[in-house]
Amino acid sequence: MNACSLHVSGTRRYGLVNISRRIMAAQEPSPPSSLEGNKPGFPKKILANNLEDKHLCNSCQKILRRPLQAQCGHRFCSFCFYKLVSSGPQECSACIKEDLFEEPTSILKQGGVSTF
Ligand SMILES: [Zn+2]
Ligand SMILES: [Zn+2]
Repeated sequence: MNACSLHVSGTRRYGLVNISRRIMAAQEPSPPSSLEGNKPGFPKKILANNLEDKHLCNSCQKILRRPLQAQCGHRFCSFCFYKLVSSGPQECSACIKEDLFEEPTSILKQGGVSTF
């Protein structure tokens, strides 16, 4: 008897784990807390004032959303940055544009960033 009920509760626990895993997986694409970081920058028109380049993403050219600073000092939305480097280290397009490409730090890669 005892052995039987133990076995049943064990099975039940397994089922619960499976269900909660499925729920977490289903929520993963858009959890409310990180929804903001899942997009490129804010459109410039939301701010009337002049914007300095340091407030703009070097990828989407919009207002930085959850900004990251690459080793070279250029800033990107975390969304844009991780999109850029998702296929591997990338040359920094802003560095290329500014003719700083000979700098070794112009390669963007995961981990080579700091938040501020
Ligand atoms: Zn961006
Ligand atoms: Zn750069």
